[in-house]
Amino acid sequence: MKIAFFSTQPYDRVFFDRENQDRRFAYQFYETHLGPHIVEAVNDVDAVCVFVNDRVNREVLKVLASRGVKIVALRCAGFNNVDLDAAQEFGISVCRVPAYSPEAVAEHAMAMLLTLNRKTHKAYNRVREQNFSLNGLLGFNLHGKTIGIVGTGKIGKAFCHVAKGFGCELLAFDIYEDEQLKDIGVLYVDMDTLYRSSDIISLHCPLTPENKHMITQSTIQQMKDGVILLNTSRGALIDTSAVIDALKTRKIGGIAIDVYEQEEKLFFKDLSDTIIEDDTLQRLMSFPNVLITAHQAFFTHEALTQIASTTLKNIEELLLGREPFNKQAILV
Ligand code: NAD
Repeated sequence: MKIAFFSTQPYDRVFFDRENQDRRFAYQFYETHLGPHIVEAVNDVDAVCVFVNDRVNREVLKVLASRGVKIVALRCAGFNNVDLDAAQEFGISVCRVPAYSPEAVAEHAMAMLLTLNRKTHKAYNRVREQNFSLNGLLGFNLHGKTIGIVGTGKIGKAFCHVAKGFGCELLAFDIYEDEQLKDIGVLYVDMDTLYRSSDIISLHCPLTPENKHMITQSTIQQMKDGVILLNTSRGALIDTSAVIDALKTRKIGGIAIDVYEQEEKLFFKDLSDTIIEDDTLQRLMSFPNVLITAHQAFFTHEALTQIASTTLKNIEELLLGREPFNKQAILV
């Protein structure tokens, strides 16, 4: 059984090789994204394994089907980048890793909030340069602050537990309410109330056509002055231009993002010697109260082990026609 991996980094090989020790998959690793530009080169493989920024649209799926590819295996949870209807039409199965250490992402969201608020990234550099001044490093207590959590699935729920430990008041919005979260004091409210009442808002819902740019000028206006935004979910949940405007007027007090709408051409690459043409990102990076990481929230030992193991199990089950061990893993 042959698998072509796209958008790979050296660490992907390490974890997928380890999980293949007792299996017999033949691997092809490509650094490039999968997309219309490269799909014609796919040949003689049973499955392609893709990540968050591969573009698996109708055009790509049509070519994959004509080349005999039977499976698109996402090695991530989100699947907004795959046209599931087209996959079904062309007879290609699509699987994903529905849960791989939600704590990894939740803990990173909290790490970003703490860094943005207490400015530890600035303090680290200052102290190394023997500047022991505290001016400009003032933060606020998280204890007693209200955090609005949008989406209380696996990651949002883990984030609620982390935030509860800091003594925060928790508001949440989700299409489905989680009874266990209610038991620990999470209060489900509508989005208007969440926007109006939260000191900090953290996004943990998937990106869908309906919620693209849910954070935009009109929703930002509903928020408290000085609100802090966290996005570890998907970049396009946020209208970045609206955020830049609101940072300029001081409506937004700070934003920490691990994802960015136009991240596809940038993230997971070392571009330190390159001129970046994305002026929106450059403007965003120029604010002192903006913290950006390059889609690393998932990046823990535990998560990479789980991702490799679940991905290979998914592919095995689909190729051999076995009952899936986790029905949520199989999308088509
Ligand atoms: P999940 O499916 O367990 O939970 C998603 C929750 O969002 C569900 O409870 C669902 O009902 C809810 N939801 C759906 N649409 C909503 C809406 N419009 N408003 C509010 N809630 C809505 O998924 P998860 O594992 O918690 O992952 C959440 C998202 O995190 C993924 O879709 C993915 O985009 C992102 N993610 C990011 C990273 C990273 O490294 N930054 C890693 C993994 C996942």
